[in-house]
Amino acid sequence: MRILYATDASAYREMPLAVCIPKTKDDLKTLIQFAAANHTSLIPRTAGTSLAGQVVGNGIVVDVSKHFNKILELNEKENWVIVEPGVVRDELNLFLKPHHLFYGPETSTANRAMIGGMIGNNSCGSNSILYKSTREHLLEVTALLSDGTEVVFGDITTEQFHVKCELPTLEGNIYRHIRQLLSSPAVRDE
Ligand SMILES: Cc1cc2nc3c(=O)[nH]c(=O)nc-3n(C[C@H](O)[C@H](O)[C@H](O)COP(=O)(O)OP(=O)(O)OC[C@H]3O[C@@H](n4cnc5c(N)ncnc54)[C@H](O)[C@@H]3O)c2cc1C
Repeated sequence: MRILYATDASAYREMPLAVCIPKTKDDLKTLIQFAAANHTSLIPRTAGTSLAGQVVGNGIVVDVSKHFNKILELNEKENWVIVEPGVVRDELNLFLKPHHLFYGPETSTANRAMIGGMIGNNSCGSNSILYKSTREHLLEVTALLSDGTEVVFGDITTEQFHVKCELPTLEGNIYRHIRQLLSSPAVRDE
């Protein structure tokens, strides 16, 4: 298993410490705690078609493609869908077709690439001028941070942003860091 997961579609090869195929969100939280306690890293992986070694490394490869592959909810009125990270891009569109909906970003590997990896890479394709890249279609992400806490990232108002900045948590640290970065007019201009 470690040899199988030592490569992706890139030219790189590195033997991971271990490979995990988690089944539940609790498994993911356990893995995060384990990695923190043992000073190692987690390498989330979906289809592994990245070209720059994104899913190759010496930490623990966490393959979420096997058990996190469900389409959870479709809202036809508002044109959004909630999916797990292991949903294949083309399979999402097969599901959406009868509803006359279409998820645009089309990597060349669309019959393998999964939404988790598309978000990680901000994937797009040859029609991106029309179809845009993944980030233009992403409304919200539910994520687990490195301390195991679950957070939701999405559009927020200025007021909500200030509330987030006051949180005495890792999530609060992230928002404070962004505020600090963007408080410089030079950075904002850039
Ligand atoms: C022949 C070929 C052609 C390609 N053409 C294109 C193209 O046209 N356009 C394009 O954009 N790309 C292209 N790619 C690159 C790649 O196929 C795409 O970027 C693809 O969308 C990656 O999806 P994946 O499921 O394979 O992700 P992976 O390679 O498995 O992961 C990608 C990144 O996302 C992270 N990640 C995955 N799941 C999670 C998760 N649940 N939580 C947190 N992080 C996560 C990984 O750690 C990694 O950093 C091509 C690759 C090949 C081999």
